[in-house]
Amino acid sequence: MSKVAIVTGGSRGIGAAISVALKKAGYSVAANYAGNDEAAQKFKAETGIPVYKWSVADYDACAAGIAQVEADLGPVAVLVNNAGITRDAMFHKMTPAQWKEVIDTNLSGVFNMTHPLWSGMRDRKFGRVITISSINGQKGQMGQANYSASKAGDIGFTKALAQEGARAGITVNVICPGYIATDMVMAVPEKVRESIIAQIPVGRLGEPEEIGRCVVFLASDEAGFITGSTITANGGQYIT
Ligand code: NDP
Repeated sequence: MSKVAIVTGGSRGIGAAISVALKKAGYSVAANYAGNDEAAQKFKAETGIPVYKWSVADYDACAAGIAQVEADLGPVAVLVNNAGITRDAMFHKMTPAQWKEVIDTNLSGVFNMTHPLWSGMRDRKFGRVITISSINGQKGQMGQANYSASKAGDIGFTKALAQEGARAGITVNVICPGYIATDMVMAVPEKVRESIIAQIPVGRLGEPEEIGRCVVFLASDEAGFITGSTITANGGQYIT
C-alpha cells in the first residue's frame, strides 16, 4: 500500500509541484487548499490528485479535514506544511490584521496541521513532517516583519519537535526556499523581480520542482537520519 501524504496549499505553486513529485514517487497524495476552487479543480483534473478545501488557520477545520483524508486514503505518514501567505507592509504601516493573518496561516497553521496528526504518527512509529519556511525567515526582510517572524517561527518549531519525534520514528525538517517562480513572486512588480534576480548568485529564480525534489528526499526512508534540519535552497542568495 502506498504511504499517504498531505500537502497543504498543494494545488498551486510550490505546493502543486510537491504534490506531483510525491505522487510520482509513489505516495497517495491529498492536496489541501484554501479557497481558489477554480485552480484546485484544474489541478485535480490535470493530475488526478484529490483536493480538499479547508483553512490551515482553523484548528477544528484541520482536524476535520485530516479525518476526511484518513477516511478516504488511510493514515497519514507524510505531512508537508506548505500553505503560506504574505501581507507585506513597512512596519509603521502594518495593521494588526496583517500581522495576525500571516501568523495564523504560516505559523499557527503548522501547529494546527501537525498536532492532530502527531499521536497517530507516534503510535505507528513513523512520520515525516516537512515545513516550507523561507529565506526571509532566516535573514529577515524589510516590509515583511510578519512573514519573517512566522517563517523564523517555523524553524524553531521544527528544531523543538524534531527532538520530541526522534525516538518515535518521526523526522521533522524545514526547507527554506529562496525566490521561486510562482504566483507569489510573479505578483511583485517586474522591476523589483529583476532586482531580486540580480541578488541570486545562480542568476535565476528557482523552479517549484526543485523544492518538490527536496521534499521527496526528506520524506523517503533513506532520509531517516536527517531530523531537525534546515535545508536551504536559494541559489546561493543567503548562505548560512
Ligand atoms: P502560492 O501563493 O502560489 O500558493 C499558496 C498556496 O497556499 C495555495 O494553494 C493556497 O490555496 C494555499 N493557502 C493559502 N492560505 C491557506 C490557508 N489558510 N489554508 C490552506 N491553504 C492555504 O504560494 P507559493 O507556492 O509561492 O508558496 C508556497 C510556500 O512556499 C509558502 O509557504 C511560501 O511562504 C513559501 N515560499 C515561497 C517562496 C517563493 O518564492 N514563491 C519563497 C520562499 C518560501 P488557494 O489556491 O486556495 O489560494
